[in-house]
Amino acid sequence: MMRFLVFLIAVYLIYYLIKNSIKGKTARNTYQSPQGNKEKKPDVVNTHLKEIAYVYYSSAKDSDTCDVCKALDGSHLLPNHKMLHDIKPPYIGCKSPEGCRCTLVYVTRDEEGSGEIESLLKRRGGMCDRRTIERGLVR
Ligand SMILES: [Zn+2]
Repeated sequence: MMRFLVFLIAVYLIYYLIKNSIKGKTARNTYQSPQGNKEKKPDVVNTHLKEIAYVYYSSAKDSDTCDVCKALDGSHLLPNHKMLHDIKPPYIGCKSPEGCRCTLVYVTRDEEGSGEIESLLKRRGGMCDRRTIERGLVR
């Protein structure tokens, strides 16, 4: 009988220890919660995007610049436009012997005239080529 009781106490102690270690782990997990970091990151991105009025594509525009890059040159997009990811340079199929030298230029809202282009882009679905921007601004 005594042995049985000792066995029970031992089992209970082991159970108690395991339970505590699990609790400790979950408590630590919530403390170092990666969600906390995830919640912060979009905020940083959002505040960053809030300051960007629009983005435009800039190619080198010399004799080595390939046709695709030339065609994309001057394309204006809103910073949250889904195409931005697709056209993000360097263009993999670029035929320039020097490789793609295109860049995306981020224009902030405090830049003069940026609001005009931003609202033009909003009216045109978020993306315009160079000509549309030029015509839209002349009007
Ligand atoms: Zn390019």
